[in-house]
Amino acid sequence: MIKRLIHGLIDLIYPPVCILCRTPIPSPFQTQNPDQLCLGCHNSIPKNRPPFCAQCSRPLQDPSRALCKYCQRTDYYFDYSLSACLYNPTMQNIIHLFKYGRKTALRHTFTKLMINFLNDYHFDLKDFDLIVPVPLHPWRLYKRGFNQSLLLADLISAHLGIPISSNNLIRGHYTKNQAKISKKERWTNIQGAFKIKSSCEFVDKNILIIDDLMTTGATTSEIARVLKGAGAQKVCVLTPAITMKTD
Ligand SMILES: [Zn+2]
Ligand SMILES: [Zn+2]
Repeated sequence: MIKRLIHGLIDLIYPPVCILCRTPIPSPFQTQNPDQLCLGCHNSIPKNRPPFCAQCSRPLQDPSRALCKYCQRTDYYFDYSLSACLYNPTMQNIIHLFKYGRKTALRHTFTKLMINFLNDYHFDLKDFDLIVPVPLHPWRLYKRGFNQSLLLADLISAHLGIPISSNNLIRGHYTKNQAKISKKERWTNIQGAFKIKSSCEFVDKNILIIDDLMTTGATTSEIARVLKGAGAQKVCVLTPAITMKTD
């Protein structure tokens, strides 16, 4: 009671402000959205809308085709990938704050966006047996202090009631940061980056990979290749955001 009173007083003197635009956030909104984003910034996140590409879920420019321009010339090892929102400057900023600014409360925002997307477009993921977050190399994990994909995977796992496998797939060798190299280089840079400690967990399983952002799909495709090599049946991907450009 006293704690709540003190918090109320602090909010009155120093109203919480949006982590992106510094607009004061009214307390009822803040209570429902502990991610410290104002309504305006929430609304500036563009949702992914149909018609979706059957493989990567990017909105189709030409609805008469099942696949987008990019997927028509790319072979992925995953079966399909779903992304809730489109990458724009707001998304770029909040993903950056989430990963490098330690604003981990944003995991709730990203998860809510993914859940709403699945519900809105009736994507039923009940036939998945396991959730696998994209692993970080131990050195990168040490420097960052947490794996952002694991934070999202934990919440998605709790929501869908699907168990999580977070330490069987490991990142074997240290790769250059995928965000800092060319599109072409990403496919070769990531090859052989992932290893599995014990295959039996993945045999005949339908697996949902969780990542924070879909760009070229090189990382998740490589994971799908390794999981299928270990006997997985279906491997799909779920992310909060996808880039419209793939380079
Ligand atoms: Zn804002
Ligand atoms: Zn596509």
